[in-house]
Amino acid sequence: MTDSLLADAGQRLERALKYATISEDAVESLKYPQMSLTVSIPVRMDDGSLKVFQGYRVRYDDTRGPGKGGVRYHPHVTLDEVQSLAFWMTFKCAALNLPFGGAKGGITVNPKELSRMELERLSRGYIDAIADFIGPDVDILAPDVYTNAMVMGWMMDQYSIIKRQFSPAVVTGKPVTMGGSLGRESATAMGAFYVIEAMMPKFDRAPQETTVAIQGFGNAGGILADLLFHAGYRVVAVSDSQGGIYSPQGLDIPSVRQFKESSRRIQAMYCDDTVCHTTADLVLTNAELLELDVDILVPAALENQITEANANKIQARFIYEVANGPITSAADQVLNQKGIYVFPDILVNAGGVTVSYFEWVQNRSGLYWTIDEIHQRLRQRMVDEAEQIWAIAQHLGIDLRTAGYVHALSRLGDAISAKGTRDYYVNHKCASE
Ligand code: NAD
Repeated sequence: MTDSLLADAGQRLERALKYATISEDAVESLKYPQMSLTVSIPVRMDDGSLKVFQGYRVRYDDTRGPGKGGVRYHPHVTLDEVQSLAFWMTFKCAALNLPFGGAKGGITVNPKELSRMELERLSRGYIDAIADFIGPDVDILAPDVYTNAMVMGWMMDQYSIIKRQFSPAVVTGKPVTMGGSLGRESATAMGAFYVIEAMMPKFDRAPQETTVAIQGFGNAGGILADLLFHAGYRVVAVSDSQGGIYSPQGLDIPSVRQFKESSRRIQAMYCDDTVCHTTADLVLTNAELLELDVDILVPAALENQITEANANKIQARFIYEVANGPITSAADQVLNQKGIYVFPDILVNAGGVTVSYFEWVQNRSGLYWTIDEIHQRLRQRMVDEAEQIWAIAQHLGIDLRTAGYVHALSRLGDAISAKGTRDYYVNHKCASE
C-alpha cells in the first residue's frame, strides 16, 4: 500500500486508464481534488471548557454536477482520507450516472465521547465554518460513518438559519419530517442487496447454499445482514468495532440486531421455535472474520481492511464492498490472482447516494414519492449499472473494479471534454479567427 490513501486510490485510476478512451487533459484534471478545505471548529463543552476540533470538506470534481458526499465523524479522520473518499464519490456518481460530482467531509472526533448537546454544537459549528462552500447547487452533504439522520437535520437547520431560507436540498439523509426521503436509511444496504441478487445467479448460486460473513454491523452492514437473512442466505458471521460472532449454522440476524440495539453490543443468538438463547463463547476477531471460509465476504466497516498483509489468507469466493475502500490496490492484485470476484464499492454501496439523489430531486420539486417508487427506481438503477459493469469486465477480460472505473471514466471524460479542453480548442477554432 502507498503511504497516502489518495495516492492508493489514484492507482485504480491509472489501471482503468489503460482501457478507457479519455483525453489527456481530462486525465490530468482528475488527478487532483478541486477544493480541500480545513476548518477549526470551536465547541463549548458541557463543563464550560472550550475545545477546538478539526473539520474538512473536499470537493473533488464538479464537472457532472454539484459535489455530493457524506460527512464522517471518526477519531482517525484526516484530510488525506477525506480526499480519497471524495475521489471515490466522483467515480461512484459517474458509475451510477447521477448528475453529481464527488465530495466528502469529516471531523476528527470520537462522537462516543461527546454528549448529545456537544454533538449538536459541533455539527452546527461545522456548518458555520463551511457554509460558503456548500449549497443545493454547489455541494450537498449526507451521512457517513457515525453520523445519522439526526445530525443531518441539525446541519440542514443550521444552513437554513445562515441563509435565512428553508434549504432542505443542501443535505440528504435528513429525518423524513424535515424533507428526508423514505427509504434513505436502508438505501445503501438495499442497493447492495439488489446487486448481490442480480449477480449471484450468474454463478448458479441459490441463497440457501450461500454463506456470508459481514464486517461492520452498523447502518449498512446491519441492514444488509437482515435483508440477506430474510432472502434465505446463511449469514454465519458478523462483527462490529469490538469484534465478531460466528456460527457455521447461521446466525439469527433479527435477534442479533435487536440485542445490538438494546445493548450496543453484538451477541450470538439462536432461536428455535419461540425460544432464543444467547451464546457468548463463539467470538472471533475482525481479522479472523475476514479470513473465514465463506462464499460471500462483505466488508462494511472502514477502509484498508484487506491489505497485502492478509489478502493471501482471504478464502471467500465473492467480495461485495459495502465500505468505501476496504481493499488496498496492492491487495486487489493478490485477490485477482486468486480468482476472487470483487464487486467494487463504487457500485455496491451506491444505493445510499442514489436515494440521496432521489431525496434532492424530491426536495427541489416538492413532490414526494412512495417507498415502492423509491425501491423500484433504486433497483432499476443498481441492476442496470451492475449489468453494464459486468458486461465491460467480460468484454475486456478485466476485473470488476477496473470495469467500474472504465464505466465511470467514459462518462467523466465525455463531460470534461464537452466543457472545453485543449482537444476542443485545437479542433474547433473560434469563429472570429
Ligand atoms: P455505521 O457507523 O452505521 O457503522 C459502522 C460499523 O462498523 C459499526 O458496526 C462499527 O462498530 C463498525 N466498525 C467500526 N470500526 C471497526 C473496525 N475497526 N472493525 C470492524 N468494525 C468496525 O456506518 P455505516 O453507515 O454502516 O458505514 C459503514 C461503511 O459503509 C463505511 O465505509 C461507509 O463509508 C460506507 N458507506 C455507508 C453508506 C451509508 O449510507 N450509510 C453509504 C455508502 C458507503
